[in-house]
Amino acid sequence: MRAKMEDIEKFVRGFSRFQQQYFSEENTLYDALRAGQRPTTLLIGCCDSRVDPMLLTGSDPGDMFVVRNIANLVPPCAPDAPPGVSSAIEFAICNLEVARVIVLGHARCGGIRALLAPQQEARETDFVERWMRIAAPVRERVLRDLAHKSSEERHQACEQASILQSLDNLLTYPWLKRRVEQGKLMLHGWYFDIDSGALMAYSARQQQFLPMVCPIPTRARAIE
Ligand SMILES: [Zn+2]
Repeated sequence: MRAKMEDIEKFVRGFSRFQQQYFSEENTLYDALRAGQRPTTLLIGCCDSRVDPMLLTGSDPGDMFVVRNIANLVPPCAPDAPPGVSSAIEFAICNLEVARVIVLGHARCGGIRALLAPQQEARETDFVERWMRIAAPVRERVLRDLAHKSSEERHQACEQASILQSLDNLLTYPWLKRRVEQGKLMLHGWYFDIDSGALMAYSARQQQFLPMVCPIPTRARAIE
C-alpha cells in the first residue's frame, strides 16, 4: 500500500475541524481537561481501522481511556504479562478509578483469523502469533465444541468467546477484582457486527450476546 499525500491533507483538514469544534471560544471542554483527565470508562478494543471506539460511541475527548491491541485481548495477571496492556489497565483502574471496563470485540477480526488459521510459512517475525497465544484456550474450546459448524460460525464464536476470556482475565488482577466485588466497577463485553452494523452486549443472565442497537431494518434486509 503506497502512502498518499491526500491522506495527510485529509488528516490535517480533520484536525482543523476538531480544533474549530473543541478550541473555539464557546467550547470550554479543554479548559477543564487541561487540569487532568477524569474518564469514567476504560475501553479495550482492537487495532482494526474499522472499529474506532471513540467514533463508534460518539465520545468526546476525556470520556474514555482506550487501550487497543490485536483482537482486544487482556493478558492474565502474571509477573511476565506483557506490560503494555497491563500497565494501561493498572493506570485506568488504580489511578483514574474508572467506573466501568468495556471489552469491545468485532466481526471479521484479523487477529482471530490468525488465531484460527496460523501462518504456515516462516516469517521474519511472529509477534501476532505470539500475542494471540493469550487466546489459545478459546481456540481449543471452539475447535473442539464447534467442530461440526461452518468456519464462519467458528470464527464468530471465537471472536465472542475471546471477549469473555478477556473479561475473565481482567478478574485475575487483584485490585480490579476487589473493585468489582465492592460494586465500584462494572465489566461489559460488547461486540460490533460490522456486517449488519449492530452492537451486541453480553448478557451474563442469558449467557449470550444480545442486540443493544439493532441493525437498521433496510440494511438488514439488504444483506440477507
Ligand atoms: Zn480485530
